[in-house]
Amino acid sequence: MGTSSKHQQHACDGHPASQRVRTCIGCGAQRQKDDLIRIVKTSEGEISYDANGHSAGRGAYVCSIDCFERARASHRLDRALKIKVADQDYEMIADELRRARLSAQG
Ligand SMILES: [Zn+2]
Repeated sequence: MGTSSKHQQHACDGHPASQRVRTCIGCGAQRQKDDLIRIVKTSEGEISYDANGHSAGRGAYVCSIDCFERARASHRLDRALKIKVADQDYEMIADELRRARLSAQG
């Protein structure tokens, strides 16, 4: 008889990028990616504040400078990025975050 085993199409169209949710490593809150600050580790193993959120590399997310400091104190940033983050790198990023925030406020 009819071997019409048509492959059924999925009604689900995947996850739109705009609805991606990430977890803050400082407080554990789940937020939209756009609402979070991204810290990125480059292929060279350097970490920095990812201002536009598009840099290649392993990323970690925090809501705010407070959460960044919390992640620092609990070593969660080290774990998220799978490296030992140096004090000077923490200071540099905290500085960048403060500056970014100031410029955002005008
Ligand atoms: Zn947070």
